[in-house]
Amino acid sequence: MSVFARRQDNKNLAMDPIAPLRDFVIAMTTLVSNNLQEDAVLSEGTPLLERLIKSNSWLPDFCATPHPDFYQQFLLHGDPLERFSVVSFVWGPGQKSPIHDHGVWGLIGMLKGMEIAQSYQRLPNGALVTDGKEQRLQPGQIESISPQRGDIHHVRNALEKEPSISIHVYGGNIGAIRRHVYDPTTGASKSFVSGYSSDLVPNLWDRSGVRNQIQHQEG
Ligand code: FE
Repeated sequence: MSVFARRQDNKNLAMDPIAPLRDFVIAMTTLVSNNLQEDAVLSEGTPLLERLIKSNSWLPDFCATPHPDFYQQFLLHGDPLERFSVVSFVWGPGQKSPIHDHGVWGLIGMLKGMEIAQSYQRLPNGALVTDGKEQRLQPGQIESISPQRGDIHHVRNALEKEPSISIHVYGGNIGAIRRHVYDPTTGASKSFVSGYSSDLVPNLWDRSGVRNQIQHQEG
């Protein structure tokens, strides 16, 4: 990219800070419209999410604010046909999730801070056993979740004194999907629906920056 093109890009971003999220939503909408197999959605969605998490300036403050007691899941975009959703997951210092499943494919992109995830397998008798080692997710890294491969895990903020934020894409309206949490000792499952931490979503479609540009050009 030329210096001029980069300068122009930065100028456009300053006037339209939500553009990276809008571009991602547009690309994901195209991707899920192709009716691909789950593996193809995950592999083709990965570079899209990598591009989105290169910066965090597009994430509105209200979707990046931790709660003192609970981790937060803010809806960034819900596909109108509920084929996918995009959320920001905001961990306060030291916060952790219970062991849970998802029921749909997912991509997790680490935006800020660090997360530690541990996968589990469920044995035929219902007991849970750890599946592999803990995974550390650093900014810029992507992790995928697939119910076909097993999608039970727990996640925690690796940082004891700082918040961490990751951006997740799921193959459905994740806040409305009936899922399960698991008792770590007995493996017993309980149904839950996560919902979202706010009624608000970012406005992807405010093009007033474009209007300012016209006013500037036409003096
Ligand atoms: Fe999860």
